[in-house]
Amino acid sequence: MDLVEYQGKQYFARYGIPISAGRAADTVDEAVAAAEEVGYPVVVKAQVQVGGRGKAGGVKLAADAAEARQHASDILGLDIKGHIVRRLWIEHATDIEKEYYASFTLDRAAKLHLAMVSARGGIDIEQVADTEPEAIARLHIDPLDGLGLPAARQLASDAGLDPEALDQAAAVLVDLYRCYVEGDADLVEINPLVLTTDGRVHALDAKVTLDDDAAFRHPEWSELEQIGDVDPREQLAKEKGLQYIGLVGSVGIIANGAGLAMSTLDVVNQVGGTAANFLDIGGGANADIMANALEVINTDPNVSVILVNIFGGIVRCDEVAQGILTALERVDLASPIVLRLDGTNSVEARRMLDERRSEQIIPELTMIGAAIRAVEIAGGQS
Ligand code: GDP
Ligand code: MN
Repeated sequence: MDLVEYQGKQYFARYGIPISAGRAADTVDEAVAAAEEVGYPVVVKAQVQVGGRGKAGGVKLAADAAEARQHASDILGLDIKGHIVRRLWIEHATDIEKEYYASFTLDRAAKLHLAMVSARGGIDIEQVADTEPEAIARLHIDPLDGLGLPAARQLASDAGLDPEALDQAAAVLVDLYRCYVEGDADLVEINPLVLTTDGRVHALDAKVTLDDDAAFRHPEWSELEQIGDVDPREQLAKEKGLQYIGLVGSVGIIANGAGLAMSTLDVVNQVGGTAANFLDIGGGANADIMANALEVINTDPNVSVILVNIFGGIVRCDEVAQGILTALERVDLASPIVLRLDGTNSVEARRMLDERRSEQIIPELTMIGAAIRAVEIAGGQS
């Protein structure tokens, strides 16, 4: 789950990372009231799950109520890279001396945590990585060792932060690391981490991605409101406990196991098609799960054919066939199903489907055969 800036800042604050005082607002009047409360000058900031808000006109300074009103009304409803602004964060403005960058994430290849710190903050870090890779100091951290103040200070120093910022920056890094580990985040990023004109170091922006698999340890996460639009297909899938990722093509894909689902995506691409989604019904797929999966895909108007690719190991093909038959009764499927069923009980499954012969089900024996057939159908209809 990606948090918006102010949720990320509130998460930071629990670990003692300094942030500016602020308030959330959903209307222009609320924004002005919030500005009065935090005290001018204020920054009016769009709360959307996308970076580069500043460049897009989503971050504006206001010196008084009239300006706060003007900026709030300009920013609410603004479209920032496809995200419509529905909530603002109003915080007391900071006088900036320097803008830095700090983040922690997991380096999967190294199997270690990775800290990145730079004195070139405030701008897109990918751009810094491209043009000035030496301007980013990196440190791998073994989770068993953790991160102490001396190593954090060294990292800040390697990154070229100003001498007067080093002690405070080191403390922020240690707290941010704790937020990342104890807070079960996949990513924590502060860009910019600023040195103020009066010599304080604090977080002016926050990007936090929580690890959904750790939700069971964090009952408080349920209070985090989803800000902004969620893909209705992904929402429906989540409610039904399915692993679903919406894409933009026309072939709906259902497979058992993430590996098989990805291979199916690849094969569809190789034969000239495009996938509308990625849907893994998992290793314990039964009739009900299969029916749910078809229901979710059926809500996607881009789908013109559904490719079901099941290799039965633990999953029994007759259960899957039963799920397809149940789905056909339960919902009015808008697209034909190209079906490749192989493995445990596949003979029984084919017999069941033959008995209830439906024009909507097109059987294929191989994965490549099924992909070619599905792409033909998709192409013929678009
Ligand atoms: P982003 O563009 O989505 O990354 O949004 P940020 O929160 O990082 O804000 C973008 C830029 O606005 C920052 O890099 C700062 O230069 C500027 N900014 C944000 N807050 C303040 C503030 O309190 N005072 C001043 N002077 N500038 C700010
Ligand atoms: Mn930023």
